[in-house]
Amino acid sequence: MQHKPDAIQHSPILPGATLGLLGGGQLGRYFVIAARTAGYEVWVLDPDPYAPAAHFASRHLCAAYDDPDALKELGNHCAAVTTEFENTPASAMAQLADHYDCAVRPSAQAVSIAQDRIREKQFFQLCDLPVGHYSVIRSPADIPAALSSLSFPAIIKTARFGYDGKGQVRVANSEEALTVLQNNLDLIPCVIEQQLDLATEISVVLGRSESGEIQCFPVSENQHKDGILDISILPARVNHQIAEQAREMAKIVAHKLDYVGVMAVEFFLLKDGNILLNEMAPRPHNSGHATIDAGTCSQFEQQVRLVCGFAPESPAPVPAAVMVNILGDSWGEDGVSPAWEYLLSNPQTRLHLYGKREPRKGRKMGHFTVLGTDQNQVIGVALSLRAALQGH
Ligand code: ATP
Ligand code: MG
Repeated sequence: MQHKPDAIQHSPILPGATLGLLGGGQLGRYFVIAARTAGYEVWVLDPDPYAPAAHFASRHLCAAYDDPDALKELGNHCAAVTTEFENTPASAMAQLADHYDCAVRPSAQAVSIAQDRIREKQFFQLCDLPVGHYSVIRSPADIPAALSSLSFPAIIKTARFGYDGKGQVRVANSEEALTVLQNNLDLIPCVIEQQLDLATEISVVLGRSESGEIQCFPVSENQHKDGILDISILPARVNHQIAEQAREMAKIVAHKLDYVGVMAVEFFLLKDGNILLNEMAPRPHNSGHATIDAGTCSQFEQQVRLVCGFAPESPAPVPAAVMVNILGDSWGEDGVSPAWEYLLSNPQTRLHLYGKREPRKGRKMGHFTVLGTDQNQVIGVALSLRAALQGH
């Protein structure tokens, strides 16, 4: 992929300018709100006419991510372009960087590594960072060797386009893996990961500027359900040394990618005390949503600053915050909304809904954040509100 050698010479972008966003989901919605609050215009490219970010955008280009006319519009009008999910084609970002006078942050190169699990794992290893045991299957011919070099149970993960546990199949043994792969050739190319004995999971969301300055948000402790993030607890209940180790590893990834913008690195903490990298996201992250309501600077305000070429703000520590995702599963069979009054009548709680029309099972429809000073109390409130919402 070719990049302009002068790509690092853009001067800071000031309010009044237009920013471009590839993708219009909930992460984009918060980016748009933060950017427009600071006086920027934002054009969003997303093929979905009901894209959550479109409600707040200055303009919604409703077209495919690789639509040449839409990219031309963005390239000609936007001072900078960023992305809000890793499945926008990196080639569209490369095209914008190569042919137009707009800053593309993060780079197409960084996004292309993050959107392919094989390249991502190899990149972590290249950085000398620890990952769990895995095999690569690029074509059906690789299956026998890949399966024989692995311990089971394991998880097959398609190399591209997976998110929220999609494109993943858990398999108990080698025979089952063989059957799954033979019957689902569209999973290939893929990785097969040994299922790890997790004590917990944590993530580091950070912002890095063009000059290499990094600021990390508080380390988040993440609990998943059915492969989808359920709850994030800030700050993570891990000792200082583990938190520092995770921050240092995330910084290595950001520096080696020459990353500009906000990104996240997810970690597995094993029962044997080891810490391994799981994956990264070239954008703000679901586990950083509590920063919207807690602390001094949200991950989206940080993204705006960095995309516009400013130094990252130093986020204040968060005393205690818990974010709980609200999935489409919380809606009744007949489409009846959850009992929002449970959440809204609690003064420690902030409700966020993304404006999605269809509450499908497993679809992230919103989240709520519980804030306070006593972590146990905040976790208790979050769990009881979550139960009340689901019991509805
Ligand atoms: P998301 O987009 O929500 O981050 P994803 O689809 O990219 O999810 P992963 O992060 O790879 O998927 O996996 C989702 C979750 O499944 C992990 O956070 C973890 O809870 C569990 N998981 C994934 N891989 C493993 C593994 N090798 N061993 C144990 N648990 C795993
Ligand atoms: Mg993940």
